[in-house]
Amino acid sequence: MYQEVKQLADMLTGSSKTVALTGAGISTESGIPDFRSPGGLWSKVDPDIAFSRDTFIYRPEVFYQSGFQHLHAMTGAEPNKAHRVLARMQAVGLLHGIITQNVDSLHQKAGSTNVLELHGHLRSATCMKCSNKINWDQLVELVLGGRIPARCECRGVYKPDAVFFGDELPVDFEHSIKESRSSELMLVIGSSLEVAPANFLPQMSRRVVIINLDPTDMDGQVDLVIHGKCGEVFAALEEKLQSRGLLR
Ligand code: NAD
Repeated sequence: MYQEVKQLADMLTGSSKTVALTGAGISTESGIPDFRSPGGLWSKVDPDIAFSRDTFIYRPEVFYQSGFQHLHAMTGAEPNKAHRVLARMQAVGLLHGIITQNVDSLHQKAGSTNVLELHGHLRSATCMKCSNKINWDQLVELVLGGRIPARCECRGVYKPDAVFFGDELPVDFEHSIKESRSSELMLVIGSSLEVAPANFLPQMSRRVVIINLDPTDMDGQVDLVIHGKCGEVFAALEEKLQSRGLLR
């Protein structure tokens, strides 16, 4: 791995604009299960039902009974080494911004700015009838108080501001296309690259590095692949960048 990390450090220093595209794998070491790994979320709930827009519209109680607890469990997590090193890389200009498929806000908690969230977030919820917004703690209070589904004063149902299957993508997706097209290097971190349209973004960047535990279908088409745990890869990268005086 050390040879690949050295190569990654060289690519980072030679790039005038680097962006990161992160997926659920970057947060597993913070205790949040990904979707597809053994023991992942898909072994616990059927996402096509629990996180489906159609089901939510006609039977919102299904989400509140089976999916909500899994989303809520993410909100107490803390950033890990990979999130923190990315934030420090951004602070010294080695990283321009982050495009994430995650809804856990861990990049922001680690101090990153310019974070584009392709699948929304869990900081708030919006009433589907009158568009009133409440923060996550207020939503939790309603749910814990037995208000299932959680409803607004107008009787509309509150939906978390995360993207469900069947939802439109937020405007951040448009911004992500621009960021990807104008980037010289994209680091794809902890993503199976099986979820569209996020998996179209890497081909818009000039050079791509994949950092992931398991192989992906795109491994053969990119400039560098590092198979390993994000925590270990980013600890090694941190050391390498520090030894070159590039990271404080
Ligand atoms: P995915 O579950 O399809 O793939 C995760 C990938 O991460 C796998 O290929 C796995 O090999 C790799 N991985 C797991 N642990 C790793 C580690 N420690 N280091 C390096 N790699 C590791 O995830 P995806 O591609 O992001 O797509 C799933 C969708 O699920 C996303 O759209 C995302 O919105 C959502 N999701 C988000 C969260 C979160 O916010 N933390 C959690 C679960 C699912």
